[in-house]
Amino acid sequence: MTTPGTSELLARRYATLGEHSPLFYREPLELVSGEGVWLTDAQGRTYLDGYNNVPHVGHANPVVADAVHRQLRTLNLHTRYLNHLVVDYAEALLAAFDDRLDRLFLVNSGSEANELALRVARQHTGSTGVLVSDFSYHGNTTSLAELTTGLTVHEPLGGHVRTLRIPDATGLTETAARDLCVRALGEVDAAIASLQEAGHGVSAALFDPLFSTEGLLTPPDGYIEGLARRVRAAGGLVVADEVQSGFGRLGDAMWGHELFDLSPELVTLGKPMGNGHPVGGVVTTAELLDEFGRRNMYFNTFAGSPVSSAAGLAVLEVMEHERLLPRAHETGAYIASRLHGLAAESPLVASVRGRGLFFGIDLVHDDGAPAAGTARALTEKMREKGVLISKIGRDDNVLKMRPPMVIEQAQAEILVDRLAESLAELA
Ligand code: PMP
Repeated sequence: MTTPGTSELLARRYATLGEHSPLFYREPLELVSGEGVWLTDAQGRTYLDGYNNVPHVGHANPVVADAVHRQLRTLNLHTRYLNHLVVDYAEALLAAFDDRLDRLFLVNSGSEANELALRVARQHTGSTGVLVSDFSYHGNTTSLAELTTGLTVHEPLGGHVRTLRIPDATGLTETAARDLCVRALGEVDAAIASLQEAGHGVSAALFDPLFSTEGLLTPPDGYIEGLARRVRAAGGLVVADEVQSGFGRLGDAMWGHELFDLSPELVTLGKPMGNGHPVGGVVTTAELLDEFGRRNMYFNTFAGSPVSSAAGLAVLEVMEHERLLPRAHETGAYIASRLHGLAAESPLVASVRGRGLFFGIDLVHDDGAPAAGTARALTEKMREKGVLISKIGRDDNVLKMRPPMVIEQAQAEILVDRLAESLAELA
């Protein structure tokens, strides 16, 4: 698979970007073009993209490409001049939130969004303490590295950070789930007490409503609401990191936090927002934005430019025009039913997780131990069969499938058929 050309490119990459910048696959894949859910490598082979959520409305989407191109040839500037596109975009995006969340900061990445949200929370509360899941990722700035628990980051955990083991009710009886919820909320109480005793107080709880890095967890009913109640009672704010769960990925809702009876004070956005053009955002209340704005001059050179706004608007337009939310629901339901069928047949599959067009397939050995090696082998096998997926989770044993939202029924069939074959071959 690795041709002399690919090997040479790899050597040049190592010689410039270093050997530690991560690449997927034993033999890295050199991609040259994309269209919709399809990707083409340097040898002309096509792959079904079952993994990437940034090309939300499809790789090389012509509506987004044309909007960006048109605007690049017209005007691109920072936000200290009036331009209608940024206002049009803010209005269109905020219309997708409940009435309380009616203000927007534009940024360039998920990291910037989380960094800013935590800064807003700190200034509002006068506290510094943060609660995060004990296996999560929220970005790459210094302060986010200090609260990263889920991927290899060697920044020590900040003294102002407390971690929570997010309870997972997958497969539990109602009684067992209720007991788990009570225990887990007890841990929240202890974490808050510890932050208060140490003098940090509570500024925010920051979590991804789908718990994507954790391997897609389903907390017991009432856990998230109980967590939010406790954080607010301690004076803190709730920050929903919707970098992965947002923009209709879940099919039946535009935002992951809508899974719960929860209106966060801050919602952070990124990845799919500009279909690959770097756009991120923090959606919040008028009170929080105004309070922050009175104290700080927040200026961001690239964020909210006419070109970024054109990209963001085009994504929303395509979503509406192509009915991507209901389609994610329908296609997602088809994939989920097929995956549940596979789980019933294959002893390797302990559970099928996720919603809409976001799936986690929990792989275990006969003794129930996490099957990380098998997950790795499966992603390689799927690549050989022309389908790209990945894996995630505390034990790196949860297959992660999150195709562009434009995936159609026939393509969904290919995705699941190849997975069925791969599972059978590895069983
Ligand atoms: N939050 C979540 C949940 C993420 O998955 C990521 C990126 N993987 C980020 C934040 C950081 O986003 P970015 O890479 O755009 O800075």
